[in-house]
Amino acid sequence: ALGLTGVMAYSIYDLRHPEEQYEPDPSKKTLVVLGTGWGSVSLLKKLDTENYNVVVVSPRNYFLFTPLLPSCTTGLIEHRSIMEPIRNVLRQKKATVKFYEAEATKIDYEKRVVLISDDSEIKGDISHTEVPFDMLVIGVGAENATFGIQGVREHSCFLKEVTDAQNIRKRIMDCVETAMFKDQTPDEVKRLLHMVVVGGGPTGVEFAGELQDFFNDDLKKWIPEIQDNFHVTLVEALPNVLPMFSKQLIDYTESTFKEEEITIRTKTMVKKVTDKYIEAEVTNPDGSKSLETIPYGLLVWATGNAVRPVVRDLMSQLPAQANSRRGLAVNEYLVVNGTENIWAVGDCAITNYAPTAQVAGQEGAFLARLFNTMAKTDAIEKELQTLSNEQSLAKTDEDRNRVFDEIRERQKQLRRTKQIGPFQYSHQGSLAYIGKERAVADISWLSGNIASGGTLTYLFWRSAYLSMCFSSRNRVLVAVDWIKARLFGRDVSR
Ligand code: NAD
Repeated sequence: ALGLTGVMAYSIYDLRHPEEQYEPDPSKKTLVVLGTGWGSVSLLKKLDTENYNVVVVSPRNYFLFTPLLPSCTTGLIEHRSIMEPIRNVLRQKKATVKFYEAEATKIDYEKRVVLISDDSEIKGDISHTEVPFDMLVIGVGAENATFGIQGVREHSCFLKEVTDAQNIRKRIMDCVETAMFKDQTPDEVKRLLHMVVVGGGPTGVEFAGELQDFFNDDLKKWIPEIQDNFHVTLVEALPNVLPMFSKQLIDYTESTFKEEEITIRTKTMVKKVTDKYIEAEVTNPDGSKSLETIPYGLLVWATGNAVRPVVRDLMSQLPAQANSRRGLAVNEYLVVNGTENIWAVGDCAITNYAPTAQVAGQEGAFLARLFNTMAKTDAIEKELQTLSNEQSLAKTDEDRNRVFDEIRERQKQLRRTKQIGPFQYSHQGSLAYIGKERAVADISWLSGNIASGGTLTYLFWRSAYLSMCFSSRNRVLVAVDWIKARLFGRDVSR
C-alpha cells in the first residue's frame, strides 16, 4: 500500500509543469492579477495562461481556505492544512506565470502601472517598484471594519488571516494560564476568562461555537479550575444574529447557543474598547438606551468588511466611482466603472450579492471564461483578416470559394465565442457551524430553499467543506486533523 501511495504521489508531482524562465512575449497583452484569495485564484485556475503575459502580485504566497479558519483558532485544524502555496497552483499552468510576493500600494490608472512594495522582513536592494499592465484584475479583498471605534485596532483580535487565528489561539491560552496564576483575584479570573466576540455575522457565530466546543471538549477537562468562570459572549448591534439566514435558523442558532451556555447580547452596540473592557450602548426593551461596561480577557472583532486603502485610492482617481462608498462599482461584466481594462472580483467589488467566498469564486471563474473567449476572439479576427487578404489575391474561382467558405466558418465561430453573457451568480446556499456538532444550512434546491439545522446538517457541512478544499492534499490534512482531535483532543499548548 505504501508503494502504491508513493507511485501515486510521484505521478501527481510529475504532472506539474516544470518551472521555466518567464519571458514576457511582446505580441501578447500583460494581464496583472492582484491577490491570491477566492476571486483571483479561481480566475488563475481556469485561465488559459498561454494567451497573456500573466503576472500575479500578492503579499500572501498562498491561497487560504477561509471557511475553516475559525477551526484554526482552537487548534482543531492546523493552519497549514488549509493553505495551498500559490506557486504550486501556478506551476500547473501551461504557460509560466510570474509571481511577486508584494503588496500593491497604488494603482496608477493614467500610467497603467501598479506600484508594488516588498513587505517581507528580509529586504533586498529593491523593495519598491512598478508593474505595467494592459489588463488588470483587482482581487485584493477587504480589510476589517472598525468604524473608527476607539481602541479596536489596538486591543482586539481579528479573524481574516492565518496570523489572526494564531494570535487568537495564543491569546486564549494566555488568558487561561494567567487566570490560573497564583493569588489572582476572583474578579480578575472572571475577566480573564470572559471571551467576547463582537459581530453576530457568520464569522462571529462560527468562532463563538468553535471556542465553546474547545472549552467543553478539552479545556475544562485539562484545566478543571476554569470550569465556573470560562464564558463566551457574542455581542451584536442588531436585534438578531445571522441576518442572512431564515428566521427558523436564527431561532435554532439562538436556542443552541443557550444550550451551549454562550450568551448572546443583541441590540448592544460597542462604542469604545480599552485593554480590559468594552463600552457598549444597549437598547433596552422599552426603547431607552443605556451604557454598559463589559470586562473581557479575549476580544474578537468580527464586524465585517471595509475598503482597502489601495482600492480607495483608485476610486479617488475615477470620477465614475464618486458615488461608491463600499468598494469598486463594476458593470455586469465586472469591469470597474470608469475604466475599460480593469476588472474587480470578490470583496473589493460592489455587486448585488453579499461579499462571500462563493460569489468571489464564481466571479473569478467568469473572468477566466471571459478572458479565454477574448483571446479566442482576437485569434479568429486575426485569421479573418488573413483570409480576406487571401481572398483578394485568389486567382481562380475555386480558390475564392474555398477561402469564402473558410471565412463563413470563422464568422460562425466568432459569433459563437462572442456570445458570452454577463456575470450571473448562482447561489448554492449558506452554511454555518454553530458549535456542539450542529450546523445551519439554507440550501437552494431546484426553485426553492431548504432550511435545515442540527447534527445531520453538521455532517453535510463537514463533507461540503471537505469537498470544497482546494486540493486533495488539503482534504487529507483536514480529515487527519479532525481524526487527531477526536482521538487525542486539541493541543492546548500555547
Ligand atoms: P457581517 O458583516 O456578516 O456581520 C457583522 C455584524 O457585526 C453585523 O451583524 C453588524 O450588525 C455587527 N456589528 C457591526 N458593528 C458593531 C458594533 N459596533 N457592535 C456590535 N455589533 C456590530 O460580517 P462577517 O461575519 O465577518 O461576514 C462578512 C461576509 O462574509 C458576509 O457577507 C458573510 O456572509 C460572509 N461569510 C460567510 C460565511 C459562511 O457562509 N459560513 C462565513 C464567514 C463570512
